[in-house]
Amino acid sequence: MTVAAAPLVPPPFVFDNSYARELEGFYVPWQPAPVPAPRLLRLNEALAAELGLDAAALQGEAGAALFAGNAVPEGAAPLAQAYAGHQFGGFNPQLGDGRALLLGEVIDRHGRRRDIAFKGSGRTPFSRGGDGKAALGPVLREYLIGEAMHALGVPTTRALAVAATGEPVWRERELPGAVLTRVAASHVRVGTFQYVAARGQPGEVKRLAEHVIARHDPDLAGGDSRYLALLRRVAGRQAALIAQWMNLGFIHGVMNTDNMTVSGETIDYGPCAFMEAYDPATVFSSIDHGGRYAYANQPLIARWNLARLAETLLPLLADEPEAAVVLATGVIDAFPAWYDEAWRAGQRAKLGLATAQPDDAALADDWLALLQAQQVDFTLAWRTLADAAEGRPAPLRDQFVDRAAADDWLARWQARLAAEGGDMAARAAAMRRVSPWVIPRNHRVEEALAAAVDAGDLAPFERLLAALQQPFDERPDNARYAEPAPRELTAGYRTFCGT
Ligand code: AMP
Ligand code: MG
Repeated sequence: MTVAAAPLVPPPFVFDNSYARELEGFYVPWQPAPVPAPRLLRLNEALAAELGLDAAALQGEAGAALFAGNAVPEGAAPLAQAYAGHQFGGFNPQLGDGRALLLGEVIDRHGRRRDIAFKGSGRTPFSRGGDGKAALGPVLREYLIGEAMHALGVPTTRALAVAATGEPVWRERELPGAVLTRVAASHVRVGTFQYVAARGQPGEVKRLAEHVIARHDPDLAGGDSRYLALLRRVAGRQAALIAQWMNLGFIHGVMNTDNMTVSGETIDYGPCAFMEAYDPATVFSSIDHGGRYAYANQPLIARWNLARLAETLLPLLADEPEAAVVLATGVIDAFPAWYDEAWRAGQRAKLGLATAQPDDAALADDWLALLQAQQVDFTLAWRTLADAAEGRPAPLRDQFVDRAAADDWLARWQARLAAEGGDMAARAAAMRRVSPWVIPRNHRVEEALAAAVDAGDLAPFERLLAALQQPFDERPDNARYAEPAPRELTAGYRTFCGT
């Protein structure tokens, strides 16, 4: 009997590169920098299967060479994307992929077009002063938080693989280098539109808009006023996305216009972190001195970013500039109501309400005010509300210092539930499907990254990842991941971006 030898380099991807084909001028063809000692640290097998890849063939040396950038797969057309962006409100006309490359696009098993991209694959013409590299810690962080968001039902880019490079990366100290392979619905950002608009190229803005319509909103193709409709779609997706973030306590941390996709996926997990005790002013990012990207500001910033997108589209919206401004303003002014509707709907689900009543907003606002006043853990408060819905208020009450205040609110809420009626157990189960038990808590994320970076031990990362992949399940073996961080840790917690 003969056994066919496995091919040395499996042809893993079937590429179809629409960005490279259709958007010349929006990128520079570029190759990943080879690295000395590639090692595959992690492959996301579930995602690999979704992409139609043979995960088994990607383990080992072939996968290491591929995901570290040493062996560019057949059919790839690696390129560094050009984009501009407002960073903390200041405009930079040229940012671009300074340490990332788009390898190409594939059609997944569900027929969806997905980008396959590297992060940390070396310098590009857009690197400015940067080294083009990524350190292992931030790469694993993006992996963890992206997978957590995915499991929580939030649209997000995802990590396909992490490869160690065997090369040191210098930050404040020497760190192990790594390359992240990222999968996205696309990497087109608000900043991509700004890049050509800022150069006074409305024809190029139009070309990009057509590309985005074909990719994300094909039902709009060829239609009258399709550019306005596109703006409306992007705004609608962002309204829904930010509402999800807010109802989970997620703080992105660096909502620059180059970090906002038109697809509606969360992108660029740099200084992001989840809130512990509820406080709308929470900021974790070390460079966000003014709190521009604080938790409570996220819907306002999303609107601000969308206004920047709208500006780029003005020449396409109407012949008369004044008419174009009126149309664009209509969308931007509608955004707060769209966001509010999505956010309130999410809150009602978390409150266990199947119907909408006029007083629900006040009920939700008073609940949040109570959490803030008593510094209650946002995630556990929502989660234990499901227990209270089943007649077990103790786990919730125990989190409050002032139990009388909690009882007053609980009485109002219970009256509202009673008026609505319905099965208690079914309601509690529904609440537990929208309010997670496990989120990527800062102390657990740091612990997992420290073990990986300082001791080369990926076991804590793997255990945390497994818990985050089932965030709604209350399993005793995951109890440590549900525990809030010590208050001192949260108070002094700082995150870093671009690291
Ligand atoms: P970010 O805040 O990570 O979204 O990055 C903002 C900009 O800085 C983008 O243009 C990145 O490509 C660039 N950048 C971040 N880190 C590096 C690095 N180590 N080397 C080169 N460019 C970088
Ligand atoms: Mg970015």
